[in-house]
Amino acid sequence: MKNELLKLIQLQDIDNQLDALRAKRGDLPEKLTRLKTQIKFLDISISEGNERLEVINSELQRLNTEIDDIRIKLNRYKDQLYLVTTNKEYDALQHEMDTTRETINTHENTILDLEDEKIKLEETVKRNSISFEEINSTFKKSQIDLDKAMAETIDEENRLTPIRNGLADKIDKKYLNTYNRFRNARGGRGIINVTRSACGLCFNHLPPQTIIEIKQNNKFITCPNCGIYLFWEDDV
Ligand SMILES: [Zn+2]
Repeated sequence: MKNELLKLIQLQDIDNQLDALRAKRGDLPEKLTRLKTQIKFLDISISEGNERLEVINSELQRLNTEIDDIRIKLNRYKDQLYLVTTNKEYDALQHEMDTTRETINTHENTILDLEDEKIKLEETVKRNSISFEEINSTFKKSQIDLDKAMAETIDEENRLTPIRNGLADKIDKKYLNTYNRFRNARGGRGIINVTRSACGLCFNHLPPQTIIEIKQNNKFITCPNCGIYLFWEDDV
């Protein structure tokens, strides 16, 4: 039992060192992941916007050309009006001209809608492109910072991690699980030393008899208040 407790104390010591190494990287890894997601989103949005702008431009070109053609046709109809000899022919031509004018109208409305969409879309693409450049530059800077922090910490982390895992494998799962649960929930601490006769985590004052037992460091004693494993560490 004493051995198990000492192993857990040792594990906490290594975990503290690993936590300190990771703290040097701060939130850079998460920040980079977040920035990467934003960059990807903007990139897709810009590409889709540009694709749509291409479609709009070719559609505008097509409609304008078509209107030009229709106007030529309309002028031809106007000339023909003078040449018709019967009312029936005249009515038929007028009807044809009305239909042609309607088509021009519809096309012109579509052009207005497309131009409106084009203006808004160009603004969005421009805005997204600016954001893209800004975020991309932040990403590159953060990547450099992270690379630097990694270079300063990775060797030590690679040295400690297998020791940590090897030690964890040797600890009874029952104790290890409790340790991990506390560690995850309480900012990295899974076992804690007594400080001024109180639990080092919740500062609950401990009875003298419990202190005596903890001082022996030979069995698992939990804080009666928060439940964390307690151990004794002489003042350093
Ligand atoms: Zn406590």
